[in-house]
Amino acid sequence: MMRYPVAKPDLSGNELAYVTHAVQSSWVSSQGEFVDKLENSIREFLGVDDVMVCSNGTVALHLAMLGLDIGPGDEVIVPTLTYVASANAVTYTGATPVFADSDPDTWCVDPASIRRLITKRTKAIMPVHLYGQMCDMDAIGAIGAKHGIPIVEDAAEAFGAMYRQQPAGTIGELATFSFFGNKLVTTGEGGLVVARDPKMMEKIWLIAHQGMDPKRRYWHPVLGYNYRMTNLAAALGVAQMERVHDLLGHRIRLADWYHARLSSHSELTVPHQAPGTRHAYWMYSLLLDEASRRDPVMAGLAERGVETRPFFYPVHEFPMYAAARTDRGCPVAVDLSRRGVCLPSYFQLREEDVDAIAGELLDVLTTSLPIPLSHAA
Ligand SMILES: *Cc1c(COP(=O)(O)O)cnc(C)c1O
Repeated sequence: MMRYPVAKPDLSGNELAYVTHAVQSSWVSSQGEFVDKLENSIREFLGVDDVMVCSNGTVALHLAMLGLDIGPGDEVIVPTLTYVASANAVTYTGATPVFADSDPDTWCVDPASIRRLITKRTKAIMPVHLYGQMCDMDAIGAIGAKHGIPIVEDAAEAFGAMYRQQPAGTIGELATFSFFGNKLVTTGEGGLVVARDPKMMEKIWLIAHQGMDPKRRYWHPVLGYNYRMTNLAAALGVAQMERVHDLLGHRIRLADWYHARLSSHSELTVPHQAPGTRHAYWMYSLLLDEASRRDPVMAGLAERGVETRPFFYPVHEFPMYAAARTDRGCPVAVDLSRRGVCLPSYFQLREEDVDAIAGELLDVLTTSLPIPLSHAA
């Protein structure tokens, strides 16, 4: 039994009441009041009009690719240090993901690496705001503008993050979010597409709703999918959105609490907040100095009831991407992947809990591991 899981949702607001209401109303599929209400609350939060909820964050990415007519023969530049869905969504269309390296400070995709991967086949660039940290959107936007390539933000981990005055997910031509159970806001399973161009949103709406002409029932002019969100899931989301500022504010305080206890330790590197950005701290993450220390430290914490998770594996290391093109093997991403750990990050954690978790981590670092050579002499 873990005293501290790495993530858990907080459903203590109107979640139960709204889901019950949806059940009682008998609107349990994708029609019903909560779908519209959820989209409206997200419009207000992000300050944009063209949003569409869907069944999960992975299909949101797939829809973004389909909206851009990406398919066989096309390439999409994706960071290798991300959740596998970012790359898989490209592969579903028959296009090829090519893998960019990370910035050693932000851990997000390195714009210089994107530049090295551009070819005539590049049809989109997909920055991923990793663990809640914003990518360098000025530099990435400039690359897109120079080559006429659209930017698709995978903002699954960055609901509430800001880049200058712009919320994550409102900067690229398209953006996607996830409302999986461990994300800042959850609908159980769920996702969101944001489009800058209303015509693009209409196109994507059609694809996600079986390609059925909204004015002519059972007339399907395009190949569609059933990627709709249910009213039940949306009911959960409406209750979560009522508390989004609390959920987000808590994550930022949580990061401050961790930071105060861990940032001066010589063996740890804590998250860096890039200037002009607001980190959403979906998961409070840090780096160990030595890759060989990472797994023993995680095991030591697990023994003490603190669950952690390792950073993502670089996606190009998975068997289905073994032949993929990368930027020189993405050495920075590989190194970060081996050294990174995510600490428990969820709404119910109080400052005393952070004291306990950070205390265990500091203790594991000093007691349970071999004494460095320099001290042994
Ligand atoms: C969670 C996540 C997704 C996919 O979301 P699902 O809702 O689980 O399909 C995509 N990209 C990133 C970076 C994520 O963290």
